[in-house]
Amino acid sequence: MSQPFHSQQFRVIPYEEWMNEGSCRFYPQALFFPPDGHHTLSEAAREICNFCPVQLTCLEYALTHRLDDGIWGGTTGRERKRIIARRVRLRLALPA
Ligand code: SF4
Repeated sequence: MSQPFHSQQFRVIPYEEWMNEGSCRFYPQALFFPPDGHHTLSEAAREICNFCPVQLTCLEYALTHRLDDGIWGGTTGRERKRIIARRVRLRLALPA
């Protein structure tokens, strides 16, 4: 893959250098953006994320940009919403 899938999303999101180091660049984009109900693909993506060198950076990026779709940093959109809600409850500062 010549470009990290992050920069190929439908929605325009800011490109960042760390995206070139994501383990997902070696896998089909559909694994990380599966159609609704394809949980097996999501689980496979999460396994890849668990060994990714930029996992935490990726997760924080998705939280910062409120990315609801796909697997980022080993989390689903629903899980990221819960993380944000928990941070708000705990009054923790979100990354700028
Ligand atoms: S954590 Fe997952 S989605 Fe993020 S760059 Fe790594 S492999 Fe890709």
